[in-house]
Amino acid sequence: MPHKDLTERKRYATNYRATHQEEIRRGQANYRKANRKSRREYTAAWYQKHKKDEKLKLYHANYRKTHRKEARAWSAKCNAKVKREIFILYGPRHRVRCAWPKCTISDIDMLALDHKNNDRKNNGGARKGTVFYHWLRKEAREGRRYELQVLCCNHNHKKELLRVRGDFNGH
Ligand SMILES: [Zn+2]
Repeated sequence: MPHKDLTERKRYATNYRATHQEEIRRGQANYRKANRKSRREYTAAWYQKHKKDEKLKLYHANYRKTHRKEARAWSAKCNAKVKREIFILYGPRHRVRCAWPKCTISDIDMLALDHKNNDRKNNGGARKGTVFYHWLRKEAREGRRYELQVLCCNHNHKKELLRVRGDFNGH
């Protein structure tokens, strides 16, 4: 029986992988898509279980050292994606855009999250930037939303000026 022969089986598998790359990749992508939630739970549980593992820590530290460029590129890409997700979530009509009436700024680099009622304490506290976006995404997944909006840097500034002058108009 060929399948009982380990070398034969290995050879078959290697050959199959080499000749069916496209199907395998598609199958994996479909699987990930269909099982996103359970996979996420599994990964989170695995991480909780192993995060204090010294060997793993060492491995990660070492990996970061030897793959500095890739690691940086990967986290930049991931952070940009999360930022976009959060701006869509909190943007006016779920678009990446300034919420100020008639303002058309949609360049994500020129936009920032704003605490609607200037209430930082109940809306993420001192968290800023990337940490804030990741936290908001986690919170959103668990069904929690905050009193936030997206404003461009100019309108952020304008709102602050209005607030200081005392004619804060609710933006
Ligand atoms: Zn604006």
